[in-house]
This record gives sequence, structure tokens and C-alpha cells, in this order.
Amino acid sequence: MNIILLGPPGAGKGTQSRRLVEERGMVQLSTGDMLREARASGSELGRKVAEVMDRGDLVTDDIVIGLIEEKLKEGAEGGFIFDGFPRTLAQADALDALLGRLGQKLDAVIELGVDDEALVERISGRYTCADCGEVYHDTTRPTREEGVCDVCGGTNFRRRADDNPESLRQRLMEYYKKTSPLIGYYHAKGLLHRVDGMKPVEEVAAEIDRILDEVAQG
Ligand code: ADP
Ligand code: AMP
Repeated sequence: MNIILLGPPGAGKGTQSRRLVEERGMVQLSTGDMLREARASGSELGRKVAEVMDRGDLVTDDIVIGLIEEKLKEGAEGGFIFDGFPRTLAQADALDALLGRLGQKLDAVIELGVDDEALVERISGRYTCADCGEVYHDTTRPTREEGVCDVCGGTNFRRRADDNPESLRQRLMEYYKKTSPLIGYYHAKGLLHRVDGMKPVEEVAAEIDRILDEVAQG
């Protein structure tokens, strides 16, 4: 099953993706993670996108479509979770075409709805384990033992350069202008499922599970 998790920055897409990878053997494709990896490796692509990302703007469609195309070719037995992609109508059309070429399709689009004020709270408290990528929050989901990752025992943590109020404002603008039209696009295709992303992580997870089980049963 191939699904998209759609929602503004901080909605919980990464958090829910990691659980689905763990529990359903799906493969998470996060274009944000791929771009951050490119930056960390010091590649030409990484250098090209750094400033755009720090400002909170979207990188060009060609770049992210190219990244996704590479990963799709590798295949995924449990299916793909698209996290942070597509973000424009052009990207959505490209994804359709790429999946079609591989004889695959999209099975569901899950929109996580979260209020803007809550997004600011979530983004300003977000940190991740530098070793395994587990996502935490200063107040709502701190590590059980201070400074030690619950999952891998790692002791290095990261905060994103773009998780600041200015970049977040721009990222939200980009979301409402360029990404939110995808809600109508996928609704028209009969693929859209809305989930209240304001609820606690476990309740959001249970609702996503319910939807995926229903979709799997046809
Ligand atoms: P996204 O991938 O959509 O940008 P993340 O999964 O990284 O969002 O979550 C952003 C922040 O919000 C993280 O610090 C995470 O721990 C926290 N978070 C995620 N889901 C919830 C939730 N349902 N309730 C409260 N906090 C959450
Ligand atoms: P994310 O990790 O999804 O919050 O993405 C972080 C940043 O990477 C965004 O603010 C954009 O600059 C860039 N980015 C990630 N995915 C895409 C995409 N699908 N299209 C354009 N830019 C993207």
C-alpha cells in the first residue's frame, strides 16, 4: 500500500511515519530528510538547496521529483509512505506518472489537521536523535532519561536550522499557498482521509491504523 501523509510543518508526519515503518514494514520517503542528508554530505545539491531551506521556501520541483524517482526504483514490499512530498500540484502529477510507470498506484492520502498555534509550539520544541532520527519534543515527548535516546541509546540530538519562528512563518505560507490545494486534488480522486492531528500521538496513530485497515480491505 502506498500512502501520502499530508499536513503543515509540525503536523506529526514524521512521528507517524516512523511508527508505520516499525509496525507495517513500510518505507518512509521524506524529501526533507533526503535534502538534509544532501546538505550534511556537502554535495553540490546540498549546497544549492541550503539557503532556500533555511529561508523556509520550497526547493524546485525538479530536484525533489528526481530524488523520489531514484527511491521509487528501489521498490518497497510493504509500500511507500510519502512524507513531505508532494508539496505542489506539479509534484503530485509527477508522482502519479512515476507510480503509473512502475505499475503502482496511490492507495490513500491522510491529511493531518493541526492549528497554527499548536504548530508553533511543536516546531519550537522539536528535537531528534542524531543517530536514529527518533522525534522528540521538549514538553510533550521528552526522552525518558534526559539526554539518552529511548530507541537507540544515542546521546547526540539535533535541532533543525529552519525550526525557528521566522522560517516557520514562511514554511506555513508556502504550505497554505502551494501545498494545501492538494487537499482538493486528492479529495477529487476519492483518496483523501482527514485525521484530527491535534489529538495525542497514540490517538492519531489509532485513527490512521483504522483508515489503513479499511483501505486494505477495499
Ligand atoms: P512533521 O514531520 O509533520 O513536521 P513531526 O512528526 O516532526 O512533524 O512532529 C513535530 C513535533 O511535534 C515533534 O516535536 C513531535 O514530537 C511533536 N508531535 C508530533 N505529533 C504530535 C501530537 N499528536 N501531539 C503533540 N505533539 C506531537
Ligand atoms: P520538511 O522536512 O518536510 O519540513 O522539509 C524541510 C524543507 O525542505 C522545506 O521547508 C523545503 O525547503 C524543503 N522540501 C522538503 N520537501 C520538499 C518538497 N517536496 N518540495 C519542495 N521543497 C521541499
